[in-house]
Amino acid sequence: MDELIAAARGARANAYAPYSAYRVGAAIRADDGSVHIGCNVENAAYPESLCAEAGALAAMVAAGKTRLVAVAICGGTAERPAVPCGGCRQKLSEFAIPDAEVAVVDGEGGGLRRMRLAALLPFGFALGDRQ
Ligand code: ZN
Repeated sequence: MDELIAAARGARANAYAPYSAYRVGAAIRADDGSVHIGCNVENAAYPESLCAEAGALAAMVAAGKTRLVAVAICGGTAERPAVPCGGCRQKLSEFAIPDAEVAVVDGEGGGLRRMRLAALLPFGFALGDRQ
């Protein structure tokens, strides 16, 4: 997980957050061990902004990988490290193995907290739920 956290921290350095100054980096490990990164990308039209996790997911899928085993996120403060927003919890679950791990660290890379994605999104909507 240390490598994944370092990758998330590195991606955070490239975050485009001129409006909120809330910089976030994310790194996803696919089931083949490859790592895919993303950072938040804000926009003057605020709703068009992109979360770091979504960017990392897009990079993973663009690389031809569709199963993630872990994600690390770097951002926020020691008291409130950046955890995936509701939309990103659903996006991540689309590609996650059942026991996918999530690690969050603050903007300095400390304050590690580890959890399972399933704990962040109980009863998430899945392929099998579609009619
Ligand atoms: Zn999000």
